[in-house]
This record gives sequence, structure tokens and C-alpha cells, in this order.
Amino acid sequence: HYDVVIIGAGHAGAAMAISLRQRDFAGSILLVGDELSLPYERPPLSKDYLLGNLETAKLLIRPEAYWHENSVDLELGSPVAALNHKDSEITFSDGRRIGFNWCVLATGGRARYLNSPGANLTGIHCLRNIDDVERIRTELALVEDVAVVGAGFIGLEFAAVARTLGKNVTVIEAQERVLARVTSPTISEFIESQHRDEGVQFYLKHGVTAFEGDGNVSSVLLEDGTKIPAQLVVCGIGIDAETTLAEGAGLECDHGVVVDESFRSSAPNVLAIGDCSRHPNIFAGGPWRLESVQHAQDSAAVAAELILGESIPYSQVPTFWSDQYNIRLQSAGLLGVEYDTVIRGRIEDKKFSVIYTRDNRVVAIDCVNSPRDFMAARKLIQQGAQPDPIQLADIAVPLRSLV
Ligand code: FAD
Repeated sequence: HYDVVIIGAGHAGAAMAISLRQRDFAGSILLVGDELSLPYERPPLSKDYLLGNLETAKLLIRPEAYWHENSVDLELGSPVAALNHKDSEITFSDGRRIGFNWCVLATGGRARYLNSPGANLTGIHCLRNIDDVERIRTELALVEDVAVVGAGFIGLEFAAVARTLGKNVTVIEAQERVLARVTSPTISEFIESQHRDEGVQFYLKHGVTAFEGDGNVSSVLLEDGTKIPAQLVVCGIGIDAETTLAEGAGLECDHGVVVDESFRSSAPNVLAIGDCSRHPNIFAGGPWRLESVQHAQDSAAVAAELILGESIPYSQVPTFWSDQYNIRLQSAGLLGVEYDTVIRGRIEDKKFSVIYTRDNRVVAIDCVNSPRDFMAARKLIQQGAQPDPIQLADIAVPLRSLV
């Protein structure tokens, strides 16, 4: 029996245990994960680590000794098969059962996979965990032509790495622009142009109909009959929240485990944090599911406070970052559908910010190689500030002076 059992030893699960100990929680903690690795960071998997610029040990969220020193028991390589919140116990897939006072679901998400004909050929991958990257890295060294399905962050980061390694790279995307789900046309055009300048080919507004090959994939077939040579394919078409345990336990789920502003699920002794949870978000104006390191950490902090008897409703500005070539994009806030755009700096300089306002209120920002703007803009969004758009656009006026 444990005071707190955390299911999922990813970013949010690890942050949960760390947050509890940072707040002097003295109870027993068990952190359970189905992956074999100690908790590690996923962002480098499609960036420096994939490129070969980072050792595996540098991926770890904490070194091994931390967990012993802080009395966090680890059960790695141990999938949890069932959650019973009424009896307050979990069952491992090997049949062992463990009781808890609090259970925290931090089960993350599962990469979506295309079910087109040929999708089971070897050489077709998604990019979610360290095992995926080991396979991709090994194969990447042996191939010439690479296709990426989906021009979201992970697909584009992978494309940048593959291009940097000298591969012929083609990106296929069903939408009419890259990053369509997360940013404005201004940023989409800029990011696409950076990839084109590096020699990446794009098929936008194109769907995949099949993968062809004999054993290993050799080409990707598009709806209009175009055939793209590829001996390695990476699908970056998003994730689905991993809610199998929650659904099995009868918890309310709706594209994520439904939680309140303190990350409590429909069962009072079960919390859900990170990518798997759907919480009321003040910036979205309703239930929202976020997929970011910032959210994994901040939702864990709020959930830890709840276990310690404090209820601090979640109010953090959502943030994200992406590295592609020598571009660092940092984003804050949620864009929504209606917004006005202010461009700060010159796009040609590859150092600028796009600020999004609604009724003059700053609601979101995308910063390209502009970390100072990013730090200040988070505060403007948090405050609901309504600065003068002329000042926002003027790089001689530091954004922090408008906070
Ligand atoms: P995860 O990290 O997915 O962890 C969930 C864990 O639970 C997994 O290990 C899973 O196997 C385990 N699990 C699931 N079910 C069970 C079960 N039944 N029993 C035991 N264990 C289980 N975010 C950013 O902010 N910036 C970035 O640049 C960025 N880049 C990214 C690049 C890549 C390639 C990926 C994949 C993600 C990236 N993200 C980035 C997103 C970020 O990594 C996630 O938002 C974060 O990892 C979410 O943490 P989590 O703990 O909720 O989920």
C-alpha cells in the first residue's frame, strides 16, 4: 500500500513525485511506468538526441540516485492493467495488486498511426518514445530518401534533423499549410520557407493512399497518383490521450480524462495530469487538453498542492517551443480562431515575434529567435494586458516595459 501511486513515469509522472517531495510530502510514493527507462524528456527525441548531439544520460529528468535519495519507489517496465478506484487499488499486468490513498494518472498519449494499405511495412515509424528513436536513428543512417507524414511540430523537427544529416526529405500534409492546427499563416509560411530553403520538398493538401514496398517501405503513394521514394517514413499525425485505464475504471473521459481545475477526476481519489488530462482552461474558455512540458510540470504542481490539502486553481499561460535548424520558435497563449496580428521585427532577419490580440488584449505570441519577447509576452497574456498595437510593433519599445 502507498499513499500516492503515480501511473506513467513520463514527464508529468516524474514531475508529480518531484513536486510532492519539494513540498515536503512525507508519505510513501510509487511511480509506475511501462517503459524500461528511468523518466526522461521527450523533446530532444526529435531534436538534438535524434541528431546524435546528446547522450542518453542527458535525457533523464533526474539521475537515478535522486529517486532513492528522495524515497520515490520505481516500478519500471511494469504496465498497469487495471485501476479500481472504489477499492483504491491498481493491478499490474502480472496480476500483482497495490493499494493507494491517491492515484495519479499520468499516462500521456499514444501516437496515431496511419492505417493505409502497406502501413505495416518495416521502415514506417511514429516518434513518441526512446525505443522509436533508437530504431529511427539506426535506419536513418542507412537510407537516402525520407518521407514525413504530417507537418506538425514533431514531423517538421524530424524533417529538419533528417535534412541536416543530408537525406532527401519530403513532407506530406493534408492541410493547406504547415502547423495549421497550432499557429497563424504568418508563422506557417515562415517555417515552410525555412525548410524549402534547406531543400525539403512539400506536398501540402495531399493525403497518403498507400505505402509500397517489399518487406521494407520503398515509396509513399499520394491521392493524385504521385509516388514519393522513401525507405524510411515518420508519421507525425498527433496523439490520442491514453485513457484506457481511466475508461476501464468508469471515470469520465472525453478525448482525455476529464478533470476539474485542480486535476481531480470524476473519482475523488484519482487525479489526472499532463497529456492524458482534459481540464477547464481559462485561456481556452472551456475544457482543453494540452500537450507540453510546461503543462506536464504545472499540472503536477497543482495536483501536488491538492494532495497536500491546498486547492490552487490552474491558471498558467500555455507555452511551447520547437527547434528547427537554427530557428527557435517559442509560443505562449492559445490562438483561437479570431485574432488580429501585430508583427514585431523583420521576418527576413529570422528574429521577430508575431503577437495576436483580440479586442486589443494580447492572447498569444509566437517568437522566432526572440527569447526576451517571449518572457515578457507570457506576462502580458497572464495579465490580459491591452497595450497600444503601435508600441507592440516597435522593437525600440521592450515588451517588458508594457507589462
Ligand atoms: P508522457 O511523457 O507520454 O508519459 C506517459 C508515460 O506513461 C509513458 O511512458 C507511457 O508509456 C506510460 N504509460 C501509459 N499507460 C501506462 C500504463 N497502463 N502503465 C504504466 N505506464 C503507462 N513539449 C514541449 O513543450 N516542447 C517540445 O519541444 C516538445 N517536443 C516533443 C518532441 C517529441 C518527439 C514528443 C514525443 C513530445 C514533445 N513534446 C514537447 C511534448 C511533451 O514531451 C509531452 O507533452 C510530455 O512528455 C507529456 O508528459 P506526460 O507525462 O503527460 O506523458
